[in-house]
Amino acid sequence: MRTIRDLSSLSETVGAWKKGGETIAVVPTMGALHEGHLSLVRMAKNSADRTIVTIFVNPTQFNNPSDLELYPRSEAQDAALLELEGADVLFAPAATEIYPDGFSTKISVSGVSEGLCGAFRPGHFDGVATVVAKLLLMTQADKAIFGEKDYQQLHVVRRLVRDLNIRSEIIGHPTVREADGLALSSRNLRLTPAQRKIAPKLAAFISEAAGKIAQGRPVASTLLQARCAIEASGFDKVEYLEMRAEKDLKPLPALTEPARLLVAAFLGEIRLIDNMIVPFPAR
Ligand code: AMP
Repeated sequence: MRTIRDLSSLSETVGAWKKGGETIAVVPTMGALHEGHLSLVRMAKNSADRTIVTIFVNPTQFNNPSDLELYPRSEAQDAALLELEGADVLFAPAATEIYPDGFSTKISVSGVSEGLCGAFRPGHFDGVATVVAKLLLMTQADKAIFGEKDYQQLHVVRRLVRDLNIRSEIIGHPTVREADGLALSSRNLRLTPAQRKIAPKLAAFISEAAGKIAQGRPVASTLLQARCAIEASGFDKVEYLEMRAEKDLKPLPALTEPARLLVAAFLGEIRLIDNMIVPFPAR
């Protein structure tokens, strides 16, 4: 595996692959890689001739400076894991390579980026959309793999490539979980042992709520009960817990089409997100 940090080496490498008729799958990440990321890398390897993993802690998608500062970084270990998985290239650029002096463009996807995380993290999805567009174009990705863990982000990216005619097929990968149900996340590294014990309850309560809604219980009261149960279990605050349509993320007051529950909650300073399918059709 080659680690590349500059754009000219990247375009030379992808240019040579393209000339030889090879296809490229890209996995964009912010590093501190775990089994969830590595599953995406395996999917990439199975879907194209060449695999590029990008590691870039994108400053423009952090609305909280301390979250950016404390974001875990472990590039040497990440590179060793990617080597074992057989990735062809690790693209780990400096911020100046992505945002050189004078950089002034921002991509803003309306609709799917509104509400949920978009309501609580102003500017976050503009940062995501802008950097993802750049990474897909720089890597000439035929395919790009994104986790369903960040379900709203997956919708934003799908909308972005459609709207801007970016020629990358976006593939979603199911959320990878710990044995106790906690969705893997780089931020889990920051949980104290006591918080780590509470953390899996988030998945457990939304999964229970999804089951109840599928059995015909009313959505609003079921979500309210789940929200109270999450807070009573030790979470400091539930930021949102909502049911949205799978197709376009529109709010769904009742289970009238395939849906997901999406949640964000704080354990101390650490914000965890998760989502679950609501089985459909309801009986
Ligand atoms: P991040 O490094 O957190 O920006 O994540 C990079 C990619 O990995 C994104 O597409 C995430 O959705 C995906 N990802 C992160 N955690 C998981 C997980 N537990 N299961 C599946 N995909 C994940």
